[in-house]
Parts: sequence; C-alpha cells; structure tokens
Amino acid sequence: MSYPNKIFLEENEMPTQWYNITADLPEPMPPALHPGTHEPATAEDFAPLFPKALIEQEMTTQRYVDIPGEVMDVYKLWRPTPLFRARRLEKLLDTPAKIFYKYEGVSPAGSHKPNTAVPQVYYNAMEGIKKLTTETGAGQWGSSLAFACAQFGLECEIWQVAASYRSKPYRKTMMEIWGGKVHPSPSQVTEYGRSLLALDNDHPGSLGIAISEAVSEAVADENTRYALGSVLNHVLMHQTIIGEEALLQMAKIGETPDVLVGCTGGGSNFGGLAFPFMREKFKGKMNPVIRCVEPTACPTLTKGEYRYDYGDTAGMTPMMKMHTLGHNFIPEPIHAGGLRYHGMAPLVSHVYELGLVDAMSIGQKECFAAGIMFAKSEGIVPAPEPTHAIAAAIREALACKETGEERTILTALCGHGHLDLASYEKYLHGEMQDLDLDQKAIDEALRSVPQVDR
Ligand SMILES: *Cc1c(COP(=O)(O)O)cnc(C)c1O
Repeated sequence: MSYPNKIFLEENEMPTQWYNITADLPEPMPPALHPGTHEPATAEDFAPLFPKALIEQEMTTQRYVDIPGEVMDVYKLWRPTPLFRARRLEKLLDTPAKIFYKYEGVSPAGSHKPNTAVPQVYYNAMEGIKKLTTETGAGQWGSSLAFACAQFGLECEIWQVAASYRSKPYRKTMMEIWGGKVHPSPSQVTEYGRSLLALDNDHPGSLGIAISEAVSEAVADENTRYALGSVLNHVLMHQTIIGEEALLQMAKIGETPDVLVGCTGGGSNFGGLAFPFMREKFKGKMNPVIRCVEPTACPTLTKGEYRYDYGDTAGMTPMMKMHTLGHNFIPEPIHAGGLRYHGMAPLVSHVYELGLVDAMSIGQKECFAAGIMFAKSEGIVPAPEPTHAIAAAIREALACKETGEERTILTALCGHGHLDLASYEKYLHGEMQDLDLDQKAIDEALRSVPQVDR
C-alpha cells in the first residue's frame, strides 16, 4: 500500500476518551502509601494536593474516561498531531526497517506535556481552585502548565531547578509570557529552600527539591493545589491521547508496529504512546516488543530498585512503589533535563516488573549523534530527551540491516529542541562527555529510603 509521509487525522476523528491501563493489568497496582503511617493512602490524604476529580482518576480502574468538551477545545489548538514515516532517515541508514514517529512538538509549549497540563488545570478550575504550584526541570512542564493556566484563568507559580533556571533563560521567558511566576529552586520563598541555601548558596537544585518546595506552598493555602507533570497514573492516562491517535493513524495505512520505543524520564510520553498498543497486544491483535529508553546517567529502570519511595526529596509526598535511585539521589547534569528524575512512574515500573516491557540505557553522546542524523534527514531538531528513543530506533533499524528483516518501528518524537540549542552547540564543539554513573551515590541514596514491609 502506498501512503504519504505524514498521516493526519481530522479534528472530528480525534479519540474522545483517555485509556486507563489499570483496568487491564494482569496484576493490580500496589497502592500509594501515606508518608507517615505507611498505610495505603486515601483520597483525603491527596486532598491538599489535588482536586477531587484528579484523585478519582488516580485511583479508578475504570477503563475509559471521557475527555471533557472544554479540554477537547484546547487540545484542538494543535491536535490531532501528525504521524510521520521517516523515509529519509530510513534511506540514510540504508535499512529495510520502517520507522514511524508521532510528533508532539507541534503543541504550544513544544512537547507532549500540555496533553496533561490542560485537563489538570481544567479540573482544578471546575473545583474553584485559584492557583497551581509546580516544579520544572528544563522548563518543559512549567511552560506547559503556565500555558494551560492561561486558558482557564488560574495563577501559576513555578519552582525551576536552579541549574536550568540559570542555563535556560528562554524557558523562563515562555513561562512568564503565559503569566507564570518563576523562582529558582532552592528558593528563599520556602523554609526548605532557605535551609538548603544556607548550606550552599550556589545549590544547583534538583527535581525532587523543587517538588518539595511547590508541594509545601500548595498545602499551605486552601485555594492552591499542586500539579505534577509526569509519574502519576492520571498523568499517564491523559497522555494516552498520543497512542490512541497513533493507533488510528497506523490503522489508516494498514501498519502495525513490531517494535515500539519511547524515552522514559518519569514515564508519561512512553506510557501515553505505549499503553493503547499494549491493550491491543493484550487482546492478541498485535505483538510489538515495547521498550523504555533511559539515560545511562539516570538509569532508574535498569539500575534502580523496585520499592516504596517518596516522590520528592524532603519526603512530603505519598510513597509510591516504583523503580527508584533514592529520593535524594541527584543525577549528573546531563542535557536531557527531562530524564533526570530519581523515580519512574509506578505504572511503568509495574509493567516492567511484570515483564510486559523491556528497558535499556544509552549515553548522551550517542543520543546527540542520533538527534543530528534525525535533523539532517527528517528536518526536525529533536529535544535531547527523545534523542534517546531515536538512538534506540536507529540501533533497531541497523540491526534490521544486518538481518534483512523488514521490521516496523514506532516511536514518539515528544518534543522539539529549539530551546535546547546550547546543548547541541556543546556536542558540535566536541565538549560533551558521557557522564559516568556514580554507583556509590546511588547506594547511599537508597540507604536513606525507609524500609516498608510491602
Ligand atoms: C518532560 C519531558 C520528558 C520526560 O518526561 P516523561 O514523563 O518521561 O515523558 C521527555 N521528553 C520531553 C520533550 C519532555 O518535555
């Protein structure tokens, strides 16, 4: 069958429901735990952090959830997103493999993150919440939440990891354009931030620390809630719009993936693409290998332990059973800032434990080389995070070249790299290094994770 490079959907063909994979898991998810008592967390435990509708989505095992009309209206600013066949990359690699990518960089913030920012702000607005707080690393999530808050008239206050606050000033400007208020983290605004700055005035910060600051501000005010851009069940569910669209697009051209690869930071773009395909796999309709790709400097799935840990550094969030490097592990400052989180989504960790997905890690130099091959052939400059998925797709395509197999590879190009050019510049000038994993630091961080007998 011949078909064009870009496979589009019409607005009226957009899926109208998110998919909740917890309905179809062969074993139920371990519950989140209260950080103090270690008993299963209740809806009330989450109430200071999130609106009721999102807590319900976090805990439900209902298979499908309707996307509200007002959320659909905002989605339609950029959705449905195109699915591309990467024919020019295939040619460059001289591979018999077919490579497809679902492009999420067409969103206002330039990544997949608005897919969950928009419904999160919508449900908060419906419950009368006036302000949201959050953390951001490279600035992708902060800018997405600021954009979404602007759509529904909420205030947005953001703690940006100090190292990227200093090195990525344009993301801060984007957040401010959409009305966000941005602090470097650690900040003078919170008690925890002040305590860290007292020890080190130049503290580089981390995602875990920024989460602690944003959470402490949210719980202190009854009209304020907190929003998390990855990791949680409801976030991964909102992102399934990616995979549901991709399924329809692949069906239009009569293709099914043999291999599906995605980069995993907290697991949301991966889960969003993979879970609808996993459902089809459960039904016996296709049989793709599904693979997570993480950086060698922050190998949560491949080197972390599967156990209960906190989502933040100060230990204020409920504990989640997940692959973790320890909540106070601070990864090396690799350029893929969005992949530098100590934990992995409980859902992705669970399907990994069940053997439903596999995982690999790749160093950043190979990833940037892959990103440049992609840019030269397909034109789009990828964000540093999805270059991990591209590098894995290229490895797979080159393996097909050896064996002559015509495998179909699907990945998500979850963001463009227009605000990450400084890291490409480092690579092009030969200044980039593969950062070694500090196993001693991981061992030490894991020792500080409390033992939970579950
Ligand atoms: C935030 C981000 C990631 C990492 O988050 P996931 O939840 O693993 O998707 C990856 N890529 C981009 C472009 C991001 O903005």
